[in-house]
Amino acid sequence: MPVSKNSAQLDCGRVDVISVITALLSRIVDFVVPQCCASCESPVRGNAVWCFRCADTVAELPKPGTCFTPQGHRVLAPFVYQGSVARAIQRLKFSDRPELARALGFSLANVVELADIPADSLIVPVPLSAARLVERGYNQSALLASALSRKVGLRCRPTALRRMHSAPHQVGANKASRAQQVAGAFMANRKIIQHANVVLLDDVVTTGATSAACAAALKAVNARLVAIVAVARVL
Ligand SMILES: [Zn+2]
Repeated sequence: MPVSKNSAQLDCGRVDVISVITALLSRIVDFVVPQCCASCESPVRGNAVWCFRCADTVAELPKPGTCFTPQGHRVLAPFVYQGSVARAIQRLKFSDRPELARALGFSLANVVELADIPADSLIVPVPLSAARLVERGYNQSALLASALSRKVGLRCRPTALRRMHSAPHQVGANKASRAQQVAGAFMANRKIIQHANVVLLDDVVTTGATSAACAAALKAVNARLVAIVAVARVL
C-alpha cells in the first residue's frame, strides 16, 4: 500500500527529531565525560584518541583506500597494527573496556568519508559466536560499527551476519589455519541484507580470512561487499 504524503512527512519529522536529540546527547557526553587516551588512560584534549606520548607510536596506513586483502577485498583502515594502536584494540577486546569503541569508531570516519562508498551502504559488524559474546559481554566490532554509523550517517545492521561456531583466538595462527577455522562460519540474514551494499566492520584485518568468509556468506544472499573497515591492518 502506498505511503501517504502526510504520514511520510510525519516519519521524516520523527527521524529528524531523533537525529537532533541523538546529536545533542552525544555532544553533552563529549562535554561531561572526560576523554582519555585509548591506549594508556592519560587525559586527552577534545575528542583526540591518543595522548601526545602514545601518538608517537601510532603509524597511519599509507593511502588506506588502495589497500586490499590477499583475497582482493578493499580495506579502509586508518592505522597499522602496532604500538599504541595494538594496545588499544587489545584493551577493547580483552580487558572489558567497551567504552573505548567510541573514540576508536569515530577515528574510522575519515577513511570512510574519503572512500567512494555508495550512500545506501549498510555497515555490518563481524559477529562473535554466541559463546564468545557471553564470555566477553559485548561485540567490539558491533560497538565500533555503531560509533562509525553515528559519525558518517550510514545505517548499521548488527544482526545481518551470524557466526555459527567459534574459532579459537587467532593470535599466532598461520594463514592456512585461519582460513580453515573460519570457512563456512558465517550466515547472512536474507531479510536484512539481501541485495545490499555492505561495509564490513572488523577490529583488525590480518590475513583476510575472516572477511573472505563473511563475503562468501553475503554473496549467498546476493549482497555485495563494498569494503572492509577496520581500526588497523597487520602489515
Ligand atoms: Zn596514551
